Amino acid sequence: MTEQRTYHGSCHCGAVRYEAKSPPIGEALSCNCSMCRRKGSLLAFIPATDFALQSGSDALADYQFNKHVIHHLFCRTCGVTSFARGAMPDGTPVIALNVRCIDEIDPDTLKINRIDGKSF
Ligand SMILES: [Zn+2]
Repeated sequence: MTEQRTYHGSCHCGAVRYEAKSPPIGEALSCNCSMCRRKGSLLAFIPATDFALQSGSDALADYQFNKHVIHHLFCRTCGVTSFARGAMPDGTPVIALNVRCIDEIDPDTLKINRIDGKSF
């Protein structure tokens, strides 16, 4: 099994903070769907069981569109989307981390994989 690392993410104002466990993140997904292309999020997916929201559950607002499968959560104060909640086709909960919001990650060093979310 790959070694798990601990990552720390937050929104801009700091109301929303989380801890995420993942194998070392060296790649991220850049998605061209109508949401991601506007936000510029860079995504990495982890099982929801490896994600712990440490603060900000009452600071988050939810936005949904299209099939309403993904909860695009953002901070009510600063507007930053630091993660989203979704589900695999089989229903398993997953978290889409916005790696731009993670302290330990420099987005400029990541290998970027483009996905065609527009067509999903
Ligand atoms: Zn905030």
